[in-house]
Amino acid sequence: MRTKLMLTIITFNPSIDRLYKLDTFEVGSVQRANFVNPTAGGKGLNVAKVVNKLGETPTCLGFLGGFNGSYIENEIEKIGLKNEFTKIDGETRICLNIIDKNGVSTEVLEKGPIVNEENIKKFEDKLEEVLKDTKVLVASGSLLAGLPKEYYSKVGKLCNDKGVKFILDTSGQSLELALDSNIYLIKPNQDELEYLAKSKINSKEDAINAARSLIDKGIENVCVSMGKDGMILLNKDNVYEVEIPTIDALNPVGSGDSSIAGFAYGVLKNYDLEECLKLANACGMSNALYMETGHIKLDDIEKFKNYIKINKHKNSKVNI
Ligand code: ADP
Repeated sequence: MRTKLMLTIITFNPSIDRLYKLDTFEVGSVQRANFVNPTAGGKGLNVAKVVNKLGETPTCLGFLGGFNGSYIENEIEKIGLKNEFTKIDGETRICLNIIDKNGVSTEVLEKGPIVNEENIKKFEDKLEEVLKDTKVLVASGSLLAGLPKEYYSKVGKLCNDKGVKFILDTSGQSLELALDSNIYLIKPNQDELEYLAKSKINSKEDAINAARSLIDKGIENVCVSMGKDGMILLNKDNVYEVEIPTIDALNPVGSGDSSIAGFAYGVLKNYDLEECLKLANACGMSNALYMETGHIKLDDIEKFKNYIKINKHKNSKVNI
């Protein structure tokens, strides 16, 4: 039998993220930017960058097109990720983030290109090929126009057939419609969990009960991330409550993606669940220390892991 050793990451709708820093942002006037910092972005690419920093080269799939797509391909090669993106005729999107001197942010997000059946077929041929060697598949972010709303369910079922652990980090309807596909792990934050469980969450107990309803639907592990308050992971046997120390966070955007990267890396390396959770939280915390999204430092990770506490107890209600 073939040994599966690869970590593969899907980003359907990557972007060039352009950060403009201005003194003041005024609607209806000419603005001069003091600082522009373009980066290859999209949730899955953030995950890939962090996995790469942890020491593993991930294989990256999705769609790229046009001038912007070439720019991202170039960046991917510079970083050292394995590029298996499908080329399309449309133009990959640009997302703008304009920050004034008080830190007030205004974002302009393009929708991205539309894919056709031929593009999808090419992607699926590549996915089937890559899954033969993949142990863990992470899919992060929104679907692209042209893909059916239930497309992540199709990806999940394919993973299931091929013995691949599927980690899905998306939101709204595309997540809801994938819940039937034996997913290994989802990582809703509080808002996403409220949407999925159709209930308000005001406490840890509420979060545990809401996550439990998703375990009952067939998800193997539900991990609820709670920013500075850490994380809770639930499976049919146990509840893991993760307590993290307080840090001086600068920019937690991308901390969710970083924690997915840490978790996926741990699963790839056969870490037990508690070790996966420590690494996931340490990655999320490290990312929060820097302006750049999808950026961690290994020294931070080693330090933070010693201060993260996990309280494990039985998931009693499910066992009754
Ligand atoms: P998302 O970006 O998906 O909403 P979170 O904001 O919950 O995800 O962040 C994921 C993880 O990153 C958290 O569980 C935590 O470990 C870490 N993290 C995020 N924000 C902070 C913060 N302000 N201070 C410390 N750790 C943080």
